[in-house]
Amino acid sequence: MQTLDDWTQKYLSRPPLTRGDILPLLSLSDPAPLFRKADSIRRRFVGDGVYLRALIEFSNYCKNDCMYCGIRRSNAQAVRYRMTPNEITHTARQAVAAGYKTVVLQSGEDLWFDADKMSDIIRRIKNLGAAVTLSLGEKTREEYAAYRKAGADRYLLRIETTDKNLYEKLDPAMSWDNRVRCLEDLKELGYEVGSGSLVGLPGQTLESLAEDLLFFKSLPVDMAGIGPFIPHPHTPLAQEKADGHFELSLKMMAIMRLMLPDINIPATTAMETLHPQGRLLALQCGANVIMPNVTAETFCKNYELYPGKPHPGARAAAAWQEQLASIGRSVSAGYGFHGDYLKEQRAAR
Ligand code: SAH
Repeated sequence: MQTLDDWTQKYLSRPPLTRGDILPLLSLSDPAPLFRKADSIRRRFVGDGVYLRALIEFSNYCKNDCMYCGIRRSNAQAVRYRMTPNEITHTARQAVAAGYKTVVLQSGEDLWFDADKMSDIIRRIKNLGAAVTLSLGEKTREEYAAYRKAGADRYLLRIETTDKNLYEKLDPAMSWDNRVRCLEDLKELGYEVGSGSLVGLPGQTLESLAEDLLFFKSLPVDMAGIGPFIPHPHTPLAQEKADGHFELSLKMMAIMRLMLPDINIPATTAMETLHPQGRLLALQCGANVIMPNVTAETFCKNYELYPGKPHPGARAAAAWQEQLASIGRSVSAGYGFHGDYLKEQRAAR
């Protein structure tokens, strides 16, 4: 009789590349062997270093109305804020002084920040010596090109789900094809591209989660963040549950590490909301990046995508060293571009 371990080994002896390979891994009742495998692949390909990216949530105005998101346009209870360009660059300067090498600028789709204003902010942060990652949602190719010209290095845009019908049901008035167009434009413009999905959306199937992973492989992404869906009380999905979403997200992340062994994978903040040690656990199941929130509390307390977002606490990059040491890891000194790993691998061949 085949033991569970034999069966697991079969699927772990080569990278899962088809839906049929991925589904049994997503359904594992004991995912421990999968997690161990992802951890060892992570160590072999990207090492024990953890890259820290300083996250600035600079505006929660949003023109979109995604059903799952707490800063959706229709949520009249959300307290809206918009940091000024000076406040944004000041926060970035503090983050760089505290040892961060990358600044991530994230917001709702806020039209106040046009391409000129954004480009100016990007240039100012690049002048501090930091790499700049943007997460501003869907823009035109021209806007993406302008940000790139201003020096932006990376762009994060989750596909959220590859199930087009589900996407268009949950993101009314948005087009799934346009989101894919954005990701393709970003790749062509030379960004390091991050994508990712939400796990546990109502109506989402394991089959569609498997398709998400195949989609990341086909782009291919340089980074992908897997976030458990956490229902927000002031959204139409308030009555949904988050049961099981943490473990399923870890499985998605671990399988992604097997399929795309050298990409950057963040231990997402939403994982910490569902489990007190969520991010440290994720780092032991394939992740190699953390995005600490460096936004002033007065602002980010209102960037409530989902309830229970951990409060940042002004933590210098060095303070992460201690936490990471507890799991045998350390803060990486470099910028952590995926392109740099790829160059190293080519050189080693
Ligand atoms: N406007 C940007 C940033 C969106 S917010 C963009 O469109 O990319 C960042 C991420 O938060 C989203 O991509 C989504 O995956 C996640 N998110 C939104 N609502 C959530 C919820 N209820 N639970 C967990 N994650 C959520």
